[in-house]
Amino acid sequence: MRPRARRGGPRATAQKTVNRRDLGYACPHLAHEFDLPTPIRRLLLESGLEADAPYDRRIFTNRDLKLDSIAVVGFDMDYTLAIYNQEEIEKLSLEATIGKLVARGYPEILAEAQADPRFAIRGLMVDRKLGNVVKMDRHGYVGRAYHGKGKLSREERKAVYRDQRLGQERERFAPVDTLFALPEVTLFAEVVELVDNAPQAWGADGPPSYAEAWLDVRECIDEAHRDGTLKERIKADPAQYIERDPDLARTLHKFRSAGKRLFLLTNSFFPYTDAVMRFLLGGTLPSYADWMAYFDWIVVGARKPGFFTDGAPFQELDSTGAPVGPRRQEIQRGKIYQGGNQIGLQASLGVFADEVVYVGDHIYGDIVRSKKSSGWRTALIVQELAHELRVRRMRGMTLREIESLYTLRAQLAEEVTAHRHIGRVLGRLTPEDLISSKGLAPDEAERMLEETRTKIRRRLDHLRAYEQETLDTLERRSLEVDEAFNPYWGSSFAERHDTSRFGSQVEFYACIYTSRVSNFLFVSPAKYFISPHGMLPHWSVDK
Ligand code: IMP
Ligand code: MG
Repeated sequence: MRPRARRGGPRATAQKTVNRRDLGYACPHLAHEFDLPTPIRRLLLESGLEADAPYDRRIFTNRDLKLDSIAVVGFDMDYTLAIYNQEEIEKLSLEATIGKLVARGYPEILAEAQADPRFAIRGLMVDRKLGNVVKMDRHGYVGRAYHGKGKLSREERKAVYRDQRLGQERERFAPVDTLFALPEVTLFAEVVELVDNAPQAWGADGPPSYAEAWLDVRECIDEAHRDGTLKERIKADPAQYIERDPDLARTLHKFRSAGKRLFLLTNSFFPYTDAVMRFLLGGTLPSYADWMAYFDWIVVGARKPGFFTDGAPFQELDSTGAPVGPRRQEIQRGKIYQGGNQIGLQASLGVFADEVVYVGDHIYGDIVRSKKSSGWRTALIVQELAHELRVRRMRGMTLREIESLYTLRAQLAEEVTAHRHIGRVLGRLTPEDLISSKGLAPDEAERMLEETRTKIRRRLDHLRAYEQETLDTLERRSLEVDEAFNPYWGSSFAERHDTSRFGSQVEFYACIYTSRVSNFLFVSPAKYFISPHGMLPHWSVDK
């Protein structure tokens, strides 16, 4: 028999002032055009009808997803339910990691580095061999590159990254897939600067190679995550590092009231998970005794992405995080587990894989892996999207201008090519060709040919000047908007006039994406997310 989720559940008994079934999910929005009296509008909002989402909190669709057909929603914790204050966490990570590097013999002046938190963004690649950080477009072409903190000129970049699809060399290129990885990029750039400019600081042994330096930075950050250096500090003062989203509890509650069951699947271990989740959800809604009451299943220390591919058993934990009972392959509701695997969790959920949405922030560990191995639908949380949308809105006029400048540039390039071609043909023609085949008089043939050549030459000069002017304006405008997105890299989602590698991964792997979990508060739990249709260039040919 087909496994079936039991709708609702003991913890799903929400207080309802208005019966949602009577209001009906068919009415997805409480849009302003209803022109409702304020008390009625308030009442409807309180009972769960959606207000319009602010523009930077919208949810975007790559692949159709019917929320109504989703029985179970799973959540990652770090950078998904827990939105970190990026600047604070970077400062903390840098401090912790520099301490560890110095203990390994790295120069102490590293601690004086003035790291700019804007230097690293998600989606970059680290070239371990050359000590560079690069940003690629969706075809794997390197569009921008920095060596240390210095930007490579176009010529320098072309000299080393002429080939496309460089990022496929896994040994050489390390992807920056999560926001946790940003400090290691920043720090690597600082170390590269030191290796180049102050090699003597390493003493007689000399500086490490770029690849060794990357490995050292990686190992030290890894250690800072594992040995509690970071987590103890965050646990001691979560408010400094984590944003307590006031809408989060209501969002989870809304899913539950709609009959969906929820699970938490995080790589963090229990003590840290407990501290963070207590900070996020503790004492929020009176109908939930504690943060655990929001979830039907809880899996900590999951070891994603291995969770999706390996078969590790689940270990039950008691409410203090101590192991109890034997290891097992399936789990029960209302208990806490550590480790485990996707097949076991899937079997325990009692629904089909395509009735599950997993909401995560890690493009590989949460989204690519779960999509490839589990068949779960995916929702990607991209914290940076809020800034991206704000800039897009603020610079909308310039972005539209850039769009039309690109179209103009393409048209001008065609015109220039056509004029150069005709100019070459005219250059080969002689007056005799006109005299013999068209019967013109010699002086008339000569004059006509000369006049035509001059006309085409003038036109070509004009077109070239126009093309250059267009390119210059395009360059200036692109720099302006790039500066607003990120002064080093421009938009995370775009590279020049194309999708970036990160942008195309978002498009390919995430069914839907948004900037934070609580944005679901603005949509009906029965919403049908419908994607824009895919387009191939030839589909827009006039019929
Ligand atoms: P999740 O996003 O909730 O699955 O949890 C991510 C966990 O991975 C957090 O506990 C992080 O501290 C941890 N983490 C992130 N980067 C590293 C790393 O480089 N080494 C070890 N743990 C990491
Ligand atoms: Mg995460």
